[in-house]
Amino acid sequence: EPTGGSPIRVVLLGANGVGKKSFASIFAGASDGMDSEDCELYGGERMLVTMAASPVDFPIPITVALEDEWALEHSMQTGDAYLLLYSITDRASFLRASELRITLRRHRPAQHTPIILVGNKCDLVRCREVSVSEGRACAAVFDCKFIETSAAMQHNVWEAFHGIVRQLRLRRDSK
Ligand code: GDP
Repeated sequence: EPTGGSPIRVVLLGANGVGKKSFASIFAGASDGMDSEDCELYGGERMLVTMAASPVDFPIPITVALEDEWALEHSMQTGDAYLLLYSITDRASFLRASELRITLRRHRPAQHTPIILVGNKCDLVRCREVSVSEGRACAAVFDCKFIETSAAMQHNVWEAFHGIVRQLRLRRDSK
């Protein structure tokens, strides 16, 4: 639980190749005054991007959880909010997102952890393997928000982030 001035950790989860690092680079690149110290690699297992000048009034470390047992376990225990990514061009990654959601629920039995299911690569329309309605239905089952994005086109990436921030604010204000 974030308390006082401690940062809120947003974790990017998802199968290999769905666009987690692309998301993180967009967040990192968009923050003014970002320097290399804000972006650290921990043994190649996760990337921490602190957005000093994010659109919100507090720094938000973004963690990219690689598909690695240790990184996943750690991120599931330490995240405050999650962007759960799959690629709309890769049905296996969609199934993987479901598995990750189930694992996350085991770590976070309380319903209040903000999670957004993100269908990335929506620019690749001809390669689509997962329909918008399937994505939406999956999010409904998992009781989380849903958005389709394109990191390549920088479409809806910040909207996804703002969605998470909105949920964190709602949660904080309801305390
Ligand atoms: P990660 O393994 O989840 O961190 O995935 P990456 O961010 O490394 O992305 C894997 C590949 O997909 C890279 O070649 C990216 O350029 C590409 N990619 C990521 N997001 C998109 C997207 O929205 N559209 C398209 N067309 N390619 C993307």
